[in-house]
Amino acid sequence: MSLNLPQISLSVSIKNSLLTSVFLLLAILGGVSVMATMRLSALQGAVEIINHDRLPQIHALGNLETQIAHTHLVAIRAALSTAVEPRADAEQELRLRTAEADAKIAHFKETIGADTPMRMAFEQFIHKWSLYLKLQAVMLEPEVGANRERLERVVNIDMPPVFQAVVDAIGHATRLADHRADTAIDNANLDARLFRLVLWTVNGISVLIGLATLGYVTRHVSLPIFRITQSMEAIARGRLDTEIPYAGHSNELGMMARALAFFRISLVENERLNAATRTLSELSEWLQSAKSEPELYQMISTVLGGLMPECTGALYIYADSRDVLDVAAEWNGQARTRSLNPDDCWSLRRGHVYIHGTSEVEFRCDHVHDGANENYCCIPILAHGETVGLLHVEYAFKGEESAEDAKARFADRARLALACAEHLSIAIANMKLREGLRDQSLRDALTGLNNRRCLIQTARRELLRASRKHTPLSVVTLDIDHFKSFNDNHGHEAGDAVLRHVGEILKAAFRDDDVPCRLGGEEFVVMLPNCTIEEAALRAEELRARVEALNVSYGERMLPPVTISVGVAAYPEAGIDLPEILRVADGALYRAKQKGRNRVELASGGMVPPIDEVTNRAVATLDAIVARAATDTIAPPDGDADQRVA
Ligand code: GH3
Ligand code: MG
Ligand code: MG
Repeated sequence: MSLNLPQISLSVSIKNSLLTSVFLLLAILGGVSVMATMRLSALQGAVEIINHDRLPQIHALGNLETQIAHTHLVAIRAALSTAVEPRADAEQELRLRTAEADAKIAHFKETIGADTPMRMAFEQFIHKWSLYLKLQAVMLEPEVGANRERLERVVNIDMPPVFQAVVDAIGHATRLADHRADTAIDNANLDARLFRLVLWTVNGISVLIGLATLGYVTRHVSLPIFRITQSMEAIARGRLDTEIPYAGHSNELGMMARALAFFRISLVENERLNAATRTLSELSEWLQSAKSEPELYQMISTVLGGLMPECTGALYIYADSRDVLDVAAEWNGQARTRSLNPDDCWSLRRGHVYIHGTSEVEFRCDHVHDGANENYCCIPILAHGETVGLLHVEYAFKGEESAEDAKARFADRARLALACAEHLSIAIANMKLREGLRDQSLRDALTGLNNRRCLIQTARRELLRASRKHTPLSVVTLDIDHFKSFNDNHGHEAGDAVLRHVGEILKAAFRDDDVPCRLGGEEFVVMLPNCTIEEAALRAEELRARVEALNVSYGERMLPPVTISVGVAAYPEAGIDLPEILRVADGALYRAKQKGRNRVELASGGMVPPIDEVTNRAVATLDAIVARAATDTIAPPDGDADQRVA
C-alpha cells in the first residue's frame, strides 16, 4: 500500500470555507456599517432640518403672525379712536409695531436663503402684507376717520379679508416649513425600515453561514476524526479486524485512514511473525521428538503448511544413490515434481540459498518448469556439513494484490522459510545421527545382520506375542566348522569375506518376520516367529546346504568351502525366555558338532535328514505319483494317492 498526497486537501477545503465565511461576514459587516451610516445621516438630516429650519422658521413665523395681529389690533384701535391724544398714542404704537414687523419680515427673508418654495410663499406673504399696509393707510386717513360710515365699511368689510389673506399667507409658510420637516422625517423612517430589513437579512445570512460552517466542520472534520480515532483505539487494543472508515477519501482523512490501514497490516504481519517465531521454537521441540524419518516429514508438512498458508512447498531429500532428490514432505498442494536432479536446481548447483526475483541477474531453476511463478525460493538443507536435501517454497496467494505487494510479502515468507530451514536442518541432522547410531547399536558392522542387542530386544517382543497368541517360535543357532584353522590357513581377512557371504545367505534365506543375527565370532542365530521346530529344521537344513555350496573368491583365488553345524530349539518346549531357549539350541548345536559337524540337530532329539536325502525322497514320491497317475488312466485307482505320498 502506498501513501499519496491528497488530491483534494481537507485543510485547503477548511481554509477556503473559513475564508469564504470570514469574507462574507466582513462584507456583511461592511454593508451593515454603510447602512448604519446612511441611517445616521438620514436621522441627522432630519434633526438638522428640524433644528435649523423648521423650529426657527415656525417660531419666527409665529412671532411675525403675533406681531401682525398686534399691529392690526393697534391699527384698528387707532382708526376707531376719536379723541386726538389716544389716537396719537395708538398711531405712535402702530408705527413702532409696524417697524418691528417689517424688521422681522426683513430678517426672516434673509434667513430663507435660496429655499425657493419658502421664498415664494414668503413673497406671497409680503405681497399680501403690502396690500394690507396700503388698506391700513387708507383706514387711518383723517377723511376716512371723519366719515364714520366709510370707516366702518373699511374696518368691518374691506379690512378683514385683506388681513385674513396676510394671516393665511403666514399659515401657508408655516405649513410649508412643517411639511418639509415631515418629509425629512418620512425619508429618515424609510431609511430606517430599509436598514432594519437589511439588518435582519444580514443577521439571517450570518446565522446561516455560521450553521453551514458548523455543519461542514462537524460532518467533514469532527465526525471523521472521531470515527478514525475510535478505529485507532480499537486497533491499539488488539482488535485487528476493526473496520477503518474513510480510507477511500482523497483528502487528509483518507491519508490518515490509509496510514492506519497500513499500520494495521504491519501489526497483523508482526503478530503473524511473532506467532511464527513461537511456532518455530515449538516446531523445533516437536521435530526433535520425532522418532522416525516418516514421522518427522509428516510433522514438517503439517507445521510448514500452517506457517505459510499462502505458499506451496516441498522438502526433497537425497536418495541413497545421491543422484536424485525425492519428495519427502509437501504442503498446501502437490509438489511440482516427485523427484529432481541436483543439476536442475540453482541452489544445489551453487551451494547456497536461491531466492528467485531478488536480483538483476537470475535464471529460473529447471524444476520450476512452467515459469508461471516468479516468486519462489530454494534452500539447501545441510546436515553435518553435507547437503541432504532441498526446501522449495513457492508463493501461491490467490487474493488480489499488486505484483509489488506480492514480492514484498513473499520476501517475508522467504525469510521465514530460511528460519524454518535451519530448524529442519538440525532436526534432519539429528534424525540421521540417531538412525545411524541406532543402526550401529543394533547391527553388526561386518555382515550387516542384526546384533546380539537387537536379538534380545526382538526376542522379548516376539516371545510376548507368541505367549499371548499361542503361536510357535523357533530359534536356530549355527556355528562355522573349524573356522579357527580356516583363519589360520587363509588369513583373517579371508575369514571375514566368508563371514560376509554367510551373512548374505542368512539375509536371503529367511522371511521378513525372521530375525537373522550374528551373535559374535563365527556364531549366528536366527529367530523364526510363527514357525514350528519341524519347519525351522527344514529351513536350517536348506541353509546348511547353501553354505556348503558356497564358493567364495578372495583376491585371485577361490577359497575352500566351509560348513556349518546347526542346532534348533523351539518355544515353549525349550524354555520361555531367550537365554533358556538359546542354551537348549546350543546344546543341539553341540550335539551336531559331536556327531561330526555339517549337520542340523533338533533340541527335541530328532534329526533332520540332509537336504539331498529330503530332495531325493520328494523326487521319488513325485515319480511314484506320476507313474500311478499313468497306470490310473488304464485301471481305476486302488487307494488314496495322497495317503501313499504321506
Ligand atoms: P569348531 O567350531 O568346529 O569346533 O572349531 P572352531 O575352529 O570354529 O572353534 P572356535 O569356535 O574355538 O574358533 C572360533 C574362531 O573363529 C576363532 C577365531 O579365529 C575365529 N573368529 C572369531 N571371530 C572372527 C572374526 O570376526 N573374523 C575372523 N576372520 N575370524 C573370527
Ligand atoms: Mg565358535
Ligand atoms: Mg566354529
